[in-house]
Amino acid sequence: MTESTAFYRERRAPLPPFSAILGTDQAERLAIGLTLISMALYLFCLVAEWIGVSLNLVDATQSLWLTIVALGGEVAFYVLLRSGISRRWPDPTLSLPQMVFAITLLGAAYLINPQVRGELLMLAALVLEFGAFQLPPRRCRDLGWFAVAVFGVAMAIGATVSPDRFDPRIEVFQFALMLAFLPVIAGIAGKLSQMRLDQKQQRRQLRDALKQVQILATRDELTGLPNRRHALELIERETARACRSGAPLCVAILDLDHFKRINDTFGHGVGDEVLRTFGREGRLVLRADNIFARWGGEEFILVMPDSTLIDAQTIVRRLREHMASPECWASCLRARTTFSAGIAEFLVGETLDETFIRADAALYEAKKLGRDLTMTA
Ligand code: GH3
Ligand code: MG
Ligand code: MG
Repeated sequence: MTESTAFYRERRAPLPPFSAILGTDQAERLAIGLTLISMALYLFCLVAEWIGVSLNLVDATQSLWLTIVALGGEVAFYVLLRSGISRRWPDPTLSLPQMVFAITLLGAAYLINPQVRGELLMLAALVLEFGAFQLPPRRCRDLGWFAVAVFGVAMAIGATVSPDRFDPRIEVFQFALMLAFLPVIAGIAGKLSQMRLDQKQQRRQLRDALKQVQILATRDELTGLPNRRHALELIERETARACRSGAPLCVAILDLDHFKRINDTFGHGVGDEVLRTFGREGRLVLRADNIFARWGGEEFILVMPDSTLIDAQTIVRRLREHMASPECWASCLRARTTFSAGIAEFLVGETLDETFIRADAALYEAKKLGRDLTMTA
């Protein structure tokens, strides 16, 4: 946990609506939602089918089979999705199988309901449009050709087996028309799918860029610690909290000793490595709720919530002891250095600036007394 996350205590997010039916996973909710929409469409179509039966236009047994297979299939898809079983499969949304199923079913319906052949082709077009939401562009186009094949076979079977109900000339006519529009509709679905994927990628890039901007705006590039501006925001929040709760809060300014000499002797690159090491090792040894930030140059700020001056001295001593061990300076051992610190307790009624001024004065005192020391205000 970083110091900033300590301020944003985790809260349990409320469950999204209809989570009992749709689940909570965002991608799964979309797939399950689309399955339920198609289930509703199936129901409408089956109601129409049974109106046909009641009007003696359609064979009841065949319609019963169609109803059982259609509803059984859709319920099976819903169960596979909602139970999470399909999560382990290559296409966890089951979009392609669902559409293949729907088109095959429409092919069967074509043979059962010759009176409404044209409408069934329109329904096939509707199924293809669903692909735009869930399938990759290529699959949308493949599905279009699959639909042409399924209806082509249905037309051929109808014209061969039952030419009195499926006039072969009309079937040829129908096939030619279907060839003109189904692939085009599948192509449009593919285009929409491509646009959806492009948008998704743009959104991802935008999100990454925003994250990057946020890091750049809040972090010090060299050490990765919060920068001065972000540290001030965090500190202000922390002092407000201390004022509300009455809990003690201490501020320490840490300044590396004779840092200029390091730059002069070993070069700026080694100086940078010393700063990085101090930042990294400091972060390692400090508590998660301590705000540790680069204040500028070779100065760091340490804010210790819920700490009295005694607690703060202990924390700084722990840091000093840690920084005294050669192991933590492995990458710039020759240039290792000490630091001086000035600590001040934030007093209710004073401004943050006043606390900093007192801490700075204590730091100055530590420098004057020989460095590698901690002084309190
Ligand atoms: P003192 O013990 O009194 O603090 O002495 P000092 O040498 O540490 O202090 P001084 O303020 O004289 O020097 C600080 C130096 O830190 C000067 C500056 O060039 C160097 N410095 C500031 N920022 C960076 C940085 O990002 N990288 C490097 N390598 N040096 C930096
Ligand atoms: Mg300095
Ligand atoms: Mg210094």
